[in-house]
Amino acid sequence: MHSYAKALFYFMNWNEVICPSCGLVNDYTIEEKSNNSVCTCSRCGKFLGNKPKNFDQVRMPFGKYKNRLVSDVLIEDYPYLQWFYKECKDKLSNSLLNAIKKALNI
Ligand SMILES: [Zn+2]
Repeated sequence: MHSYAKALFYFMNWNEVICPSCGLVNDYTIEEKSNNSVCTCSRCGKFLGNKPKNFDQVRMPFGKYKNRLVSDVLIEDYPYLQWFYKECKDKLSNSLLNAIKKALNI
């Protein structure tokens, strides 16, 4: 993928997904993974990106609240989530990082 197209792709709004290969608009299949949804074009099968899940669907990867939803930890133990973010942010995937930032409103 051309770097400009790639940049566009990463910053695009998920309300309008355009396949960079065949131009198909908003027609893609979604495969649910633990912390994101893998999207591929319905026509040509091109990988379109990992659509981030909302923080109410993302689970903690390790630690005291392993496999618990970020949204549950937010409610039950807000200081822990703050601590977790501060201490572990270098080890987290982007999708998880974004979910936690959204949850903590930072
Ligand atoms: Zn396509």
